Amino acid sequence: MGNIVAIVGRPNVGKSTLFNRLTESRAAIVDGEEGVTRDRHYGTSEWNGKTFSVIDTGGYVTNSEDVFEEAIRKQAAIAMDEADVILFMVDVQNGITDLDQSVANILRRINKPVLLVVNKVDNNDLNLDATEFYGLGYEKLYSISSNSGSGTGDLLDEVTNLL
Ligand code: GDP
Ligand code: MG
Repeated sequence: MGNIVAIVGRPNVGKSTLFNRLTESRAAIVDGEEGVTRDRHYGTSEWNGKTFSVIDTGGYVTNSEDVFEEAIRKQAAIAMDEADVILFMVDVQNGITDLDQSVANILRRINKPVLLVVNKVDNNDLNLDATEFYGLGYEKLYSISSNSGSGTGDLLDEVTNLL
């Protein structure tokens, strides 16, 4: 296996926030509002003595539904081409959206390990809400808060197991 991890997901779920936390850089720009187009960004991270690259695939965001779909295809293409492990991020505070389903549909066709990451689980009540995302068809999910870093240790343990 190589050592590239890609973060994929619809806009505003917190991809860039996690990227910044993992890479301890400000290379990815966190946008408070949707509708801003950004390129993808690469950074380097280390966990359990393993060094790996992280791709924030969060660019291509616009307000048109059509372009959302196109953006998601591009994200998936990047992940398919370049990544060894894919983090599929969703937002517990929004629940499952149509765009999450679109991402899930595309990722189902990728023959690479995909970890479902439920972000914005900022407290224990939200931990219960996170179980809704089993509806996307994954056997396991990783509840994290990219803001606080909570849950990211377990996630990175699994990522480094897979690399
Ligand atoms: P991206 O579009 O997927 O890259 O999402 P961003 O990283 O730009 O984050 C979108 C918004 O969600 C920003 O306002 C972040 O501060 C916020 N956010 C990211 N992670 C968390 C989290 O763990 N908890 C909460 N409450 N907000 C978060
Ligand atoms: Mg982003």
